[in-house]
Amino acid sequence: MTRLQLQRDVEAAMKDKPPGPVLCLHCGNDKAERLPSPGDYSDYRCPTCGEYRVAGAQERCFDADTADPRKAQIVIDANGQRWLE
Ligand SMILES: [Zn+2]
Repeated sequence: MTRLQLQRDVEAAMKDKPPGPVLCLHCGNDKAERLPSPGDYSDYRCPTCGEYRVAGAQERCFDADTADPRKAQIVIDANGQRWLE
């Protein structure tokens, strides 16, 4: 099973986004957490990557395989928010 397939299974099991341990989208670290987030985005906390946010549209690209989260970059915006994009 590839990491991406494993990630998909995790995602499928977490459709309604409860907080808890997940695989880091970016590095695959299995100690990452998805934090509760009220908007169309998800916040992740990873021991390797730190905290970062993924916009809903970007997440759907990852889900649809039109973007590879492992090749995505963490970008810091003007507010200091870190985004995986
Ligand atoms: Zn990571």
